Parts: sequence; C-alpha cells; structure tokens
Amino acid sequence: MKILITNDDGIYSPGILALAEIAADFGDVRIVAPDVEQSSMGHAITASRPLSYKKTKIGHFEAFRVNGTPADCVSLGCFHWDKVDMVLSGINIGSNLGNSMWHSGTLAGAKQAALLGIKGIAFSTPSHQAEIEFHAIKQFASNILTILTEEKESPSLVNVNFPINPRGIVWARQSVRHYDGVVKPAEDPMGRQHYWFTVEPIEEAEEGTDRWAVNHGLVSLTPLSLDLTNNTELERMLQKHYFPSPIS
Ligand code: MN
Repeated sequence: MKILITNDDGIYSPGILALAEIAADFGDVRIVAPDVEQSSMGHAITASRPLSYKKTKIGHFEAFRVNGTPADCVSLGCFHWDKVDMVLSGINIGSNLGNSMWHSGTLAGAKQAALLGIKGIAFSTPSHQAEIEFHAIKQFASNILTILTEEKESPSLVNVNFPINPRGIVWARQSVRHYDGVVKPAEDPMGRQHYWFTVEPIEEAEEGTDRWAVNHGLVSLTPLSLDLTNNTELERMLQKHYFPSPIS
C-alpha cells in the first residue's frame, strides 16, 4: 500500500514524523508537505505562481517539501507517485474540531485526497500540552488505521481528533454550535495597530459530537462527505419554488 503523508504545520513538525512512523507499519510511506507552516489556510490551492517540489529527508523517510498549501502537496504528491492508496494528514499540533473543520489545513490535505478519489484521514492533537507525547497516542492511531484500512466498508474521508491521554475511541458527528469570531486589537513595538483573530466556542458541546468526545477523553472519528448540499433545504425549496425551466 502506498501512503502519502502531509500536514499543515510544515514538513519539519514533529507531528508529521510521528504519523509517518505509525503509517510505516501499514505500507510504503512518502512525505510531501509544506516547507513552512500553513495552519488555518483551509483548502486553498496555489494557482497564481509555480510550485517547487524539493527532495529532503525526514527521519529515514523519503520526503519532499513544497512551497504551497496542504492541498497543493497532495496534488503534487499524487502526480509524482502513481496510484497512492491513502493520504494521511497530521498529526496536527492543535485540535480540528467542530467549526474548525472549515478553515483546517490539516483536514484540507485529507479532503484533497478524497477529491482525487483516494482515502483521506486527518489527525489532530491538542496544542495546550507542556510537551506533545506522540507515543501516548501512537497505539490509538495505529488501531484507527487498522480499522480504516482493513474494513471493506470503512469511510473514505475521516477527521480524527485526539484528547490528551485518550481512554477510548468513538464515532462522533461534527459539532456545529455557534462560535464567536474574536478580534483582539493590539499595538506592535512601533506603535502601529494590528489585530489577532481567533474563534471561541460560545455554546457547550452536544452529546455525540467530536467536541463532546474529546472533552470526555475519547478519540473522535468523524466520517465526512464532500457534498455540502443541505438536502432537507433542497427538498423544501424544490417543493416551494418553481422556476420556469429554460430547457423545454
Ligand atoms: Mn496546523
């Protein structure tokens, strides 16, 4: 099995090496990742300038660094390596739960795989730890890969989030409760005004969601679909509104 590894923290993040080491038990591994951090860049692609693809070495793995986004890396990686079976993205240092999925570069790496018809799995762990203990989550990540590679009917796009010191694994849906976009104005040393932007959840996590699972010490596995259509609304609108068809 050919396993392509990417991330959005950049190719020199310890998280990507940890993920490559876990994946090596399942097949041939190649790392293709951004040369610098691309966190929160979402599913951006680089369309206005050329990209480079430079050989480097991460641990004992064959690796290539790209001056682009996670989605660029997956596209270039699959262009250079024929018939990739699976793309793994992460392990991101920082959770990608609930609404964060909309701007997550980590998840975008897995989504780009899904768009190319390849299985994509994103892995994230909380950043608020004194030191990230990747060995504490390795066994869980390995168990998850076993399920997602060996089960015939396993989902093709999955977002995985680890809590600190996991005590189990659970399937969970995405939490879509309200977030507050927080803009914090500040001044730089030259007296110029600048702004920090972040998001904070303003509602408790509902039971059965990814945020709820991680709050309870469980690894959350959320199967995702590429189709953003709201089918309930679509059905309602089809019933309610009639636009004369231009096709007779
Ligand atoms: Mn990141």
